[in-house]
Formats: sequence, C-alpha cells, structure tokens
Amino acid sequence: MNERKCDVAIIGAGTAGLKAYKAVVARGGDAIIVERGPGGSTCTRVGCMPSKLLIAAARMAHQARGAGAFGIVVGDVSVDAAQLWSRIRRERDRFVASVLDDYHAIPAEHVVHGSARFTGPDRIAVGDQRIIATRGIVIATGAHPIVPDMLDPIRDLVHTHETIFELADLPATMAVLGAGPLGLELAQAFARLGVAVTVIDEGDTIGGLKDPKTNAAAIAALGDEFTLELGAEATASLTDDGRARLRWSGGEIEVDLVLAATGRPPSLDGLDLDTTGLARDDHGTPLFDESTRRCGDSDIFIAGDANAWRPVLHEAARGGRIAGDVAMGGPPAKPIPPFAIAFTEPNLTEVGMAFDALPDDARIGEASVADNGRATADGEDQGLVRLYADAGGTLLGASIVAPEGEHLGHLVALAIERGMDAAAFADQAWYHPTTEEMLQSAARDLLGDDS
Ligand SMILES: Cc1cc2nc3c(=O)[nH]c(=O)nc-3n(C[C@H](O)[C@H](O)[C@H](O)COP(=O)(O)OP(=O)(O)OC[C@H]3O[C@@H](n4cnc5c(N)ncnc54)[C@H](O)[C@@H]3O)c2cc1C
Repeated sequence: MNERKCDVAIIGAGTAGLKAYKAVVARGGDAIIVERGPGGSTCTRVGCMPSKLLIAAARMAHQARGAGAFGIVVGDVSVDAAQLWSRIRRERDRFVASVLDDYHAIPAEHVVHGSARFTGPDRIAVGDQRIIATRGIVIATGAHPIVPDMLDPIRDLVHTHETIFELADLPATMAVLGAGPLGLELAQAFARLGVAVTVIDEGDTIGGLKDPKTNAAAIAALGDEFTLELGAEATASLTDDGRARLRWSGGEIEVDLVLAATGRPPSLDGLDLDTTGLARDDHGTPLFDESTRRCGDSDIFIAGDANAWRPVLHEAARGGRIAGDVAMGGPPAKPIPPFAIAFTEPNLTEVGMAFDALPDDARIGEASVADNGRATADGEDQGLVRLYADAGGTLLGASIVAPEGEHLGHLVALAIERGMDAAAFADQAWYHPTTEEMLQSAARDLLGDDS
C-alpha cells in the first residue's frame, strides 16, 4: 500500500471540504483532499443554484400572468420548455465551473480521486493509498437524497433533486413528496410554469416552520398555487397507461412524475466509521462540538451536511473553515443563530430560537403582511411576521412568512447577534414604504406600543 502523510486530510471537495482545505493551507498546513465525484458542489450542481434558476424562470411566468391586475397587457403566457431548461443548465454550468476552478487550482499532489474510508482514527484509505493525518481528518461528505421504498412500483417515474434539472420537457402533472423547503420551492416553481402540482406530506407543517401561526399563513398563501395534502401517508402504484397513482386515506391522484423530497441523510455509508471509535447518535452520525466541529476528543472533524446539523450552504462553508482552522490549532468559533429560508413566494424564514424552544415567558409580537403598504402596492399581501423576545425584551428569534422575508431574516439575525432588545430594534431607521417596516411593527406589537 502506498502511504502518504499530511497535517489534515479532508474527505469531500464540496463547499465544506474546499473551505476546510483553504483554512488549513492559510495556516501553513499540508492538506490532502479526497473527492470521489467530478468535483463541483451540491449547491451549484443539483441544489441551491439550479433551484433558484428554476424559481427565477417561474417568477417571470407568474408575474407575466398577473400583470393584467396592474393594467399591463401581456397576452397569453406560455413556456418554451427547451429554452427554459437550456438557460437553467447553462447558468448552472457556470456556477459549477467557478467551484471547479477552485478545486482544480489545488496542486495535483494534494488531491486524491476516489472514495475514502477510515482505517483508524488518524488514517484513511483511498483504493490502495493510505493517508495518515497527523493533525486531523475532516469529514465533509455531504448528504444525499433518499427515495422511499414505497415508490418502488413507480421507480421509473420518480425524480430527486439530482435528476429533476435534467428534464427535457415539463410534465402536465406532478406530485411532490415532502413539504420541506426543497419540496415547496420546486413545487411552487413547477406550478408557476403551468404544471398541476400536488404536494403530499405525512406531517401538518410545511417548509420546516415551527410556529403554528406562520405555518397556517404559509399554508394559506401557498395553497393558492398548488394542492397541499397534509397528514397524508401515500402509497404508490403504476396505472395501466404507465402513470403514477398515489393513494392516501381520503384521496388519490394520477400524475406523470413524482419528485421525492423526503429528506437528505448524511453520506456516511462506506466510511467505515466503526474503525474510529467515535460516539454516534441513533442515526450513526458522529457527535460533535458545534463551536469546533470536533467529534468528541478525537482529531476527527465533521462539517457541512455530513453532520446533519443545519444543512444549509452558509453553515457548510463556515463549518468547513472552522474545522480546518481548529485542526491547525486555531480557536473555536461561536455558533451563529440558526437561519433557514425556503425561497417560495412569500419566503418562509425562521431565524434564531424556534417557537417550540421559546421560554414560557417569551414575548411575541406580530405584523400582518396585509397591513404593509409596500407589500400591498406590489400585490403580494399574504403572510405574517412573528418576532420573539425574552421576558426582558432581548430578541430571540423570528418566524417570517412574507415577501422579501429573506432580507427581513438577515436583519433579525444581525439584531440577535448584536444582543439587541425589541425597543432598540423598533427605534432604528425603517424606511417607508418597505417590507422591512413589518419588523418594526412586530417589535412595537411585542412591546405593547401602539403609538
Ligand atoms: C435542491 C436543493 C436546494 C438547496 N437550496 C439551498 C439554498 O437555497 N440555500 C442554502 O443555504 N442551502 C441550500 N441547499 C443546501 C446546500 O446545498 C447544502 O447545505 C450544501 O451544498 C452542503 O455542502 P457540503 O459541502 O456539506 O456537501 P457537498 O457539496 O455535497 O460536498 C460533499 C462532497 O463529498 C464527496 N464525497 C462523499 N463521500 C465521499 C467519500 N467517501 N470519499 C470522497 N468523497 C466523498 C461528494 O462527492 C461531494 O463532492 C439546497 C440543497 C438542495 C438539495
């Protein structure tokens, strides 16, 4: 076996892995990065970016169709599927290329192609190569989509986010299994492109929203654009004419295509984690410290979607950097507030402490999107903003279903990080007319200030 030594070995050259690599090198370390795929990242290839490109196209169609309400005459709106997919894939490829530039800039002697597996707590093997890491090993292997077994009878009609952006056309009808952020974003986009979409979920919440009032607002807003079947446990079968039939207690549909958006577990299979002696949770994911990404007191780190904690891009990037830094002797980094956005319209945003974790004496203020002048002017008046503070008024979090909710979420994240209280938050410069004013209204409501 060919044996090599380095300071830090990194498994996975996605967002987290590339950041970890750069952090090690920036501290003068010698790193080896192992990648089994073509490189690029989930975000650019099959995640954030192609989904936002699809959403952007869908928004165009939606606005064109709605233009008449503003006195703008557009005429019939139709979708040229070939051009739609061509733009999405062309722009997607540019995003992928920019990540590949980073990857290919790594000197060849620091890159190993193949699947890595542990052979001990300080070493990994890739094919017939053994890599011994003297300062740490970073697991940055990401996550992967799962297709539930119950879809086996219609397997050929099932897509995941890894294949859906390769469609040549648009189906007439489609079911989305899973009402999480990923499922909802794509469901609304396809619906706006003219596909009859039904979203099916066993639970009664959507978009990961924990606050029952914003959840209800989101269901009301999105339920206008596609069918939402919540609390529905579906089974699947193939129809005589080769379509997918989904049945649940009280309902049944036949569709051309099914998108499985039922979760993305960490990609840890095949890593032979048993050889590391790491403590793991019930799902087999190593336990780790959030401020260092270190697993127990080992020199193994886990960052990005691989650790199943906040599976979003900015946490993958930050986690990779932290893991690389700490492996090289750098300091821990304070966790930032949790922050998640579903880029539906209205956006579904939760930031900071979630509703179900609030202390009993928490104070909550809210503002209805229907009362916001800017949202009304823009013809987007559905949703609700809820702001949380502790008994002393210090901001804890927010649940936001609103147009431009992504920007409102960033403001709340910053305010929480700065330790702001609701009074100081309300007394900022809030320009009129903006959707941001809803945060001021919610803060005033929380304070009982109706001046
Ligand atoms: C459809 C969709 C939309 C999304 N939209 C957003 C969004 O709008 N905003 C947001 O913040 N987040 C979004 N996300 C989440 C975001 O894409 C992920 O959080 C992020 O890409 C995770 O990065 P990562 O580095 O952990 O994993 P990845 O980028 O997946 O990298 C993991 C790498 O590890 C490699 N690998 C795995 N196992 C091994 C092994 N044994 N040996 C060698 N290499 C291995 C893989 O080949 C891969 O290249 C979205 C995700 C999806 C699926």
